[in-house]
Amino acid sequence: MALIVQKYGGSSVADTESIKRVAKRVVETEKKSNKVAVVVSAMGDTTDDLIDQALSIDSNPPEREMDMLMTAGERISMSLLAMAIHAEGSRAHSFTGQQAGFFTDARYGAAHIKAVRPDRVKNALSLGDIAIVAGFQGINAKGDATTLGRGGSDTSAVALAVALGADICEIYTDVDGIFTADPRIVPSARRIPSIDYESILEMASCGSKVLALRCVEYAQRFNMPLHVRSSFSRRPGTLVVPDGIDPRTLPNLD
Ligand code: ASP
Ligand code: MG
Repeated sequence: MALIVQKYGGSSVADTESIKRVAKRVVETEKKSNKVAVVVSAMGDTTDDLIDQALSIDSNPPEREMDMLMTAGERISMSLLAMAIHAEGSRAHSFTGQQAGFFTDARYGAAHIKAVRPDRVKNALSLGDIAIVAGFQGINAKGDATTLGRGGSDTSAVALAVALGADICEIYTDVDGIFTADPRIVPSARRIPSIDYESILEMASCGSKVLALRCVEYAQRFNMPLHVRSSFSRRPGTLVVPDGIDPRTLPNLD
């Protein structure tokens, strides 16, 4: 039995039909006798829409209230996904960043994770439930909601995978992994089947945006294997693995 963390980005949970599709994939992974914890981003453009709403009220909104507002996006997707999994006949339990034990510093809008103590997530998994965790958020020492910076759910997923001692962290997106160039712009771009952290970091610093830089650094620091793949297809994605690990030994590659 493997312990798998799956992260679904905003485009993978853009509407309720997509959430149902993701729920099926999560349940399928669980049925292959894996333990599954899921990290979700906000649905589609929710985060941008929330920012626009805030700015239409106050051109310089208080940072604390901005983070309070932005954490709402991931609460919507996490609870709807838990419901969709329930409708599929499996048990799921959703957790906010706070409930999942994400402790951050006090930099609103760009908080850094200081510790992850996912006791309630572990408990849910040990009871045989699927745990759904809101990405991109935590709490500071005052107990206020913080966000990790745009695209921060990737980092949430890796941090959770590390704290749980997961076998792999799967990052689901709308492309089949990491390509030599953006396949939406360059049709001849080739998928990279497997790659090491260092090369991904080089690509990221060249502006390739498939993974957040901090997420890759975090994975590298703790040797957490990543599988970047599409939630819209069954094709293999890109494995980002530590040196010396045979990618074929990783779980859930089909
Ligand atoms: N929803 C947040 C954003 O759009 C976090 C994320 O998607 O990773 O930046
Ligand atoms: Mg997003």
